[in-house]
Order: sequence, then C-alpha cells, then structure tokens
Amino acid sequence: MAVTQDQAPASGGHTFDSTSPATGELVGTFPLHGPAQVAEAVSRAREAAAWWAGLGFGGRRRRLLAFKALLAARSGELVDLVHRENGKPAADGFIEVLLAVEHLDWVARKAARVLRPRRAASTLVLANQAASVEYLPLGVVGVIGPWNYPVFTPSGAIASALAAGNAVVFKPSELTPAVGRFLADAFAEVVPEQPVLQVVTGDGATGDALCRAGVDKVSFTGSPATGRKVMAACAERLTPVVLELGGKDALVVDEDGDLDAAAEQAVWGAMANAGQTCLAIERAYVVDAAYDRFVGRVAELAARVRPGPGAEADIGPITLPAQLAVIRRHLEDAFRRGARAVVGGPDAVRPPYVDPVVLVDVPDDALVLREETFGPVLPVVRVRDADEAVRRANASPYGLGAAVFARRRADRIARALRSGMTSVNSVLVFAGMPSLPFGGVGESGFGRVHGPDGLREFSRSKAITRQRFPLPFSMLSFERPARLLPAVERAMKLRHARAPRR
Ligand code: NDP
Repeated sequence: MAVTQDQAPASGGHTFDSTSPATGELVGTFPLHGPAQVAEAVSRAREAAAWWAGLGFGGRRRRLLAFKALLAARSGELVDLVHRENGKPAADGFIEVLLAVEHLDWVARKAARVLRPRRAASTLVLANQAASVEYLPLGVVGVIGPWNYPVFTPSGAIASALAAGNAVVFKPSELTPAVGRFLADAFAEVVPEQPVLQVVTGDGATGDALCRAGVDKVSFTGSPATGRKVMAACAERLTPVVLELGGKDALVVDEDGDLDAAAEQAVWGAMANAGQTCLAIERAYVVDAAYDRFVGRVAELAARVRPGPGAEADIGPITLPAQLAVIRRHLEDAFRRGARAVVGGPDAVRPPYVDPVVLVDVPDDALVLREETFGPVLPVVRVRDADEAVRRANASPYGLGAAVFARRRADRIARALRSGMTSVNSVLVFAGMPSLPFGGVGESGFGRVHGPDGLREFSRSKAITRQRFPLPFSMLSFERPARLLPAVERAMKLRHARAPRR
C-alpha cells in the first residue's frame, strides 16, 4: 500500500516518490521540503525542546521507554516497510530494529546517571571552592540519515539526542522517507503533546537547508563527500557537527585464530545487507599459515549466499542504483590488475542485484582495497604475519571498524588497528553494544553516538563553582597583600617543582 504524506505542505507543492529498489512498486509520496518548511520545523522544535527539557530525566525516560515498547510491538510492520523501501531481506531489517530498540532502552535508562550534576574535585589552591559539572541539552539537533540502515543508523543519534533532552528534526535519505516518517509517527503516538521528533523529507537540498537552519548541532551519517559539504554548510553558523562517514573495514586473521568462525563471520560481515554497511568487512588480511584454509572455507560459504527479492534470499538488491556502477568499476579494475575471483566473476553485477564475489591476488593499489565498494565483495589478501596485516589494514584513510580473529595476540592486534571500534573473534558486534561509543577516525568522521559518549555528544557541559567560605586574602583581587603571590609561589614550587622519582 502506498502512503501519501500530505500533512506537511511542500515547497511549491512539490513531492517525490519512494519506490522499492527490487520491484519498482510505489511505497509512498512525500513532500519535498524546502528551506522555509525546514525553518518552520526547527522553530516548532525550539518550543518542543523547552517542554521536553522541562520534563527532566524521569519524564523523558518514561516516554522513551514507551516509544521503545511501541517500536518493539510494531516491529513486524516496521521490518516489512524497511524490506519494501530499502529492499533488504526481512532478517536484516529485523536485526536493525532489534538494535535500535536495545539502544533506545539503554539511553532511556542511563541518561540520568551519565548526565546528572556531579561534584568535581577541588584543589589545594582552591580548597574553599566546591565544584560541580552537569550536562544540559543543546536545544534542537538536526539528524541527517542514510538509506542503508534507515532505522538503526539515525536512531542511534536520535535516541542519544532525545535522552539528553533535545528536540530532533530528522531528515531521512530520499530513498527511505517512509521509514523516517514511521519513526516520527510512532514517537508522536507516545508523545502527542509537542513535536519533539519531527521529520522533514526531501533530497540533498533539504539536508543542506537543515544544516543552515540554526539548529544547535547536526548529526550526519553518510558518505565522506557529503560529510564535507555538511561541515562547510554548518561552518557558516558555527553549528557543531558529528560526522559518521564511510568505512573500509579490515578483518585480520592470525595463525591461531579459529578459521571456521573467521570464515563464517567474514562472509556475513562482507555480504550481509548486500555489503551496503558502513561497517562491512571490505578487506581481509590473512597470515600465510591460515590463508589457504581460510580462502577455501570463505569460498564454500560465499557461494551459498543467494541474492533476490523473496523471503528465501540472503541478500537483497543494491538500493542506490548508482552504486551498481561503483561496484562494477571496482571489479573491472581489480581484474585488470590481475585479481582472480574464487567466487563470482566479472558478470556478478546483475541490476538490481550483485552476486557474491570473493577476490584473491588483489594488488594494494586496486580500488577494491582502497575505496568503499558497498557491495557483496570480499578481497582476501595473504600476509606474512600479524604485523604486516595491521600495517596494511592501517594504510587507509578510513578508520571506522575492524575485526580480528586470533588468540595469543588478539588484544595487541585489536589495539594496533586504527579504527574507532574493533571486535575480537566476531564482526560488527560493537555496533550492538549500547554501552560503547560508536564512531570513526580519519575519513570515517568524528564525534560519537551510543553509550555515555553519545549522550554527552548531544549535551553541553556546564561547570559551576561555589565559594564555601571566604579566605582571608584572595589572589584574584587587586586588594591582595603584596606578600601573597610570593608565598603562593614558594608553595607551588614545594608541591610541583620536583620531577617525579620514576
Ligand atoms: P549520502 O552522503 O549520499 O547521503 C546521506 C544523507 O545526506 C542523505 O539523507 C542525503 O539525502 C543527505 N544529503 C545529501 N546531500 C546533502 C547536502 N549537501 N547537505 C546535507 N545533507 C545532504 O550517503 P548515503 O545515503 O548514500 O549513505 C551511504 C554512506 O553512508 C556510505 O558511505 C556509508 O558508509 C555511510 N554510512 C556510515 C555509517 C556510519 O555510522 N559511519 C552508517 C551508515 C552509512 P538524499 O539521500 O536525499 O540525497
């Protein structure tokens, strides 16, 4: 059934259609919101933000838990909508919804503990002062989301921002506006009093308008190219930004890693959601001693992965049609440079699907090892040892996630990998751990969502000192006696001027 969203007027009455990437079926027609409508939404949000902040942690917690309960109860409906609009199989859609629900639950319950006022330590020099810090809402947060995880990805930022006491204006990708609308409508069911979570729909221009609308922070998830534009637009009003950008995540397999588990997880990490995951395993570096067995097992498992539109398929279509050309270009480039396919081949791209591809003998300068492919393609690279694996994995401008399968050296490798997140003996699980921060380094962006860091990301710290008793003389006064600072200087030297013994 197609949905028509006519409650919010579009600029000049313009609308756009959202269609299924698998069947072309119309999913819904949505307003193309221009700068004026975006500004109106932000101004409504400003009022809502004051009301929402005034509810305090307890009031927000109750409502956020009710929102979570509604999403969990209506997960079947939401998963079906994700399947129709994004094309991914229901199983992948369900995992998204599950993770979103888990994160919502965590931030709703923990926001008070993380953000509430707390006492801070004083110093000898300021012994007469009490210190405290608290985390206040920013006001209105603009969230711009991608199409590949239309529930999970934006809901991380949305949940953190709401739990921290902000109102949110959310701009979903033009490929998944119906999912964005579903989330806002569900929230309005449990919080009908004020438009605390609104959705504006449209294309890149709508996202650009949100960046320029005077919101208090923008949380953007998408490609590095668009991330740069978002940051430039936000710079005009000094609007702070969180950028969750692309990745080229590496998997490292050491000689004592569990090879069967590594192969199974590598195939899932690379191919799930047809590889359209910012945290997809896009490269595997496998030590010489494990390489042949790993490649053999990966080939066996990857050959079984079935693309298609139906319930029996493991992976769905490529949601963004233009991505098909990128995947084809990466494959052609790899074959031209001497790579071999052990699964799939040059004709793997069959729009709108891509068959699984496993590549070996790929040189380092091939596009498929350097740029985000965003398709079900896994290049496996043979390396001498774990140090070489880490060196080559780190030779990338991206640094989002990473994975390592190892025993003895597992922790050392995990720490040495240049990424915001690394999983040991599994893939991608950090994304589902609500207590951990989520975000990258380098071209993968900066700032964090999820966990305590995510809650603080959407807050402003407020420091307060309170004089408990006056001192006979204050250093911070023109009336201080002349002998005071020399005496303090002597005390400082006694206390600080000696180097530590070790
Ligand atoms: P895009 O960068 O194309 O778009 C992301 C969002 O930005 C969309 O809502 C888009 O709108 C909007 N947008 C486009 N132009 C502008 C602009 N000038 N100003 C403001 N907003 C704009 O990314 P995709 O949607 O294609 O998503 C895929 C990318 O996202 C991949 O690189 C992937 O790795 C990354 N990603 C990162 C994640 C992370 O957490 N680090 C998670 C998921 C994805 P519209 O779609 O309407 O054009």
